[in-house]
Amino acid sequence: MEEPYTMESDCLFCKISHGQTPTEILFENDTLVVFKDINPHAPVLLLFVPRKHIRSVNDLTDEDQGILSELIVAAKKMAKEHGVAKSGYKLIFNVERGGGQVIFHLHLHLIGGWH
Ligand SMILES: [Zn+2]
Repeated sequence: MEEPYTMESDCLFCKISHGQTPTEILFENDTLVVFKDINPHAPVLLLFVPRKHIRSVNDLTDEDQGILSELIVAAKKMAKEHGVAKSGYKLIFNVERGGGQVIFHLHLHLIGGWH
């Protein structure tokens, strides 16, 4: 199969989304992968990562709008699967260092599990 997205060789999330780490993938499709945060500070903390390398929200282009909506729809489904849809959750994009971004490959955090 032809790989549609190029990888940044030193990017952890590119490696994970291209299956080059032992990370357990909870869900994946052509656009994105979902896995647990390795250092969770909440009962449920999932990361939604597009396969395409986009540095941050600042780097989104008009053609990335489909990726964004897929991330959010996947988050909605995973919230239900993890039993936090009713109790509630946050969806967060950290943007650049001042916004708490640590890995410079766009990702959506799903945080929840408090009652
Ligand atoms: Zn990347």
